[in-house]
Amino acid sequence: MGIIAQEALSSALARIDGKGYKAYKDIKGEYDFDDYRLIIDHVQGDPFAAPSRIRVRVDRHKSGFADDTTQNRSRTIATADYLTREFHARCRQFSRGNRGIGKSGLITIDRPGQQILNRSAMIINDRYVEARFFMGLPAFGRKISGRDAGEMFFSELPQIAHGALYSANLDTAALYRHIRCAEDADAARNQLKPKGLVAFVADGSLLPRKSGIDDRPMDRNPAVLFDAPEAAFRLALELPNAGRIEGMGIPEGVTLIVGGGYHGKSTLLDALELGIYNHVPGDGRELAVSLATGVKIRASDGRNIEKTDISPFINNLPFQKETTAFSTENASGSTSQAAGIIEAIEAGADLLLLDEDTSATNFMIRDHRMQQLVAKDREPITPFIDKVRMLYTEKGVSTILVMGGSGDYFSVADHVICMTDYLPSDVTGKARSIAASDPSNRKAEGGDAFGEISERIPLADSFNPMRGGKQKLAARDTRQIQFGNTDIDLSDMEQLIDTSQTRAVAHAIYYATAYMNGNSILREVVQRVVSDIEAKGLDVLTPYIVGDLAEFRAIELAGAINRMRTLRVERNG
Ligand code: ADP
Ligand code: MG
Repeated sequence: MGIIAQEALSSALARIDGKGYKAYKDIKGEYDFDDYRLIIDHVQGDPFAAPSRIRVRVDRHKSGFADDTTQNRSRTIATADYLTREFHARCRQFSRGNRGIGKSGLITIDRPGQQILNRSAMIINDRYVEARFFMGLPAFGRKISGRDAGEMFFSELPQIAHGALYSANLDTAALYRHIRCAEDADAARNQLKPKGLVAFVADGSLLPRKSGIDDRPMDRNPAVLFDAPEAAFRLALELPNAGRIEGMGIPEGVTLIVGGGYHGKSTLLDALELGIYNHVPGDGRELAVSLATGVKIRASDGRNIEKTDISPFINNLPFQKETTAFSTENASGSTSQAAGIIEAIEAGADLLLLDEDTSATNFMIRDHRMQQLVAKDREPITPFIDKVRMLYTEKGVSTILVMGGSGDYFSVADHVICMTDYLPSDVTGKARSIAASDPSNRKAEGGDAFGEISERIPLADSFNPMRGGKQKLAARDTRQIQFGNTDIDLSDMEQLIDTSQTRAVAHAIYYATAYMNGNSILREVVQRVVSDIEAKGLDVLTPYIVGDLAEFRAIELAGAINRMRTLRVERNG
């Protein structure tokens, strides 16, 4: 299909005005508007169906964005993210529901939150800037309103596109703030490993959020800004745009975050969990970064587990149930947490983040009194406290653990940070001397080695994307995937933060099956998918272009596969 003049669209709309909704299919195609190309990829079947998928493509040289807006991956993603926000803001001026039934009158684009993510909603490359968005083609009583559609295509869309996709019409100072912010966060994250760190929080960071359901920053007035402890943990990073920034660096190893209840422990950990992402300027967590492969682990009883070797933590279950290839459709809190850790490491994690608030107590600790009452051979669980050091010394996996409730952990910690009135201090020395002068008397139960992290080979035929004769790959919400007839519950995967990521993961599971050849282990499979996306973009995931996919990590893809109730695997070796 060639590109046709915009007049062809207006005459088509005039022709189908008042006809049945299906006649809208006639307008599918590519139209040459003066300053951009309009591409109508998919027309919805009725006014209540998912809205039509539309693109606007502007030549890069016409758009006027300087080369430095896309000179590296950080910048390209940040620029596209900024344009998506601007496009969305302009859509809101026009999108309205009083133009008929169902989705009539809707114009919208995927809406970013506090994080800056690579999205399929906006592409910027050497050749063009392209917005992928959604329109509800208007109808009254299922009859096409060509006049309203004309207004959307010929008056509103041009204003949105001109406003959001041309450098001259944007606040370039704000665009560059956005770009520099993301670039600095990536630079800070990339410096962690070479400096032997797993996380960094800059002085002045604002970590608490508006509320438990609102990810925007708490108002500056009640909030206490972050301030690194003097001496220990305080260090400076050199960033490409912000220059020298001081803050708290958390070194590799085992780090405890202690402190009284309500003193900001979980808030700090939450920020570190999301420190895998870049945040928008003004978020407060712009320079709170953690290793890109850091994984939040929590208990998630009821989840499915498929042949995961949880024997480093769980042994001698009643009735000799096997734990070197442990399967269940209904995990307990402790087995779910054990599987979560093993699977995260299997997928490439080198930092674990745990909070006592969301952990199974019997997985975390077994104190001296309990050891006396219940003998080791009657307790299947080897608690995390007895494995956390070996995890670091043998596997190179660090842990940051919020633990206000048990001082037994002092004996296994390299570093102890105490939160008091939302501010951190270094209490490592104090914790050590307490551990020395007041021994816990508990016996170490972890044996002399952590144990093997086994590898599993996912089997392609356990993934059936079909539902009622049609492929069904969707996100029901941010933590729930619909894959064919199976629902995948991701409610414990707290680092999945955007429904467009979840949607992309749904497609990626199916895409990944092409790499499941009966030999490839799960880690290889998910890394291949993520490499393809990095090389060719999110468009590789779908047979047609969709504007509401966002990038995710290999770890989240593996996590979703691991939680599928239909998953079948073979053990490697
Ligand atoms: P803990 O895990 O130590 O019990 P939380 O991190 O859950 O404490 O924090 C308790 C409350 O304090 C939360 O409502 C949180 O939003 C608020 N809070 C956390 N950090 C700060 C801060 N830096 N300034 C102001 N309020 C904060
Ligand atoms: Mg807490």
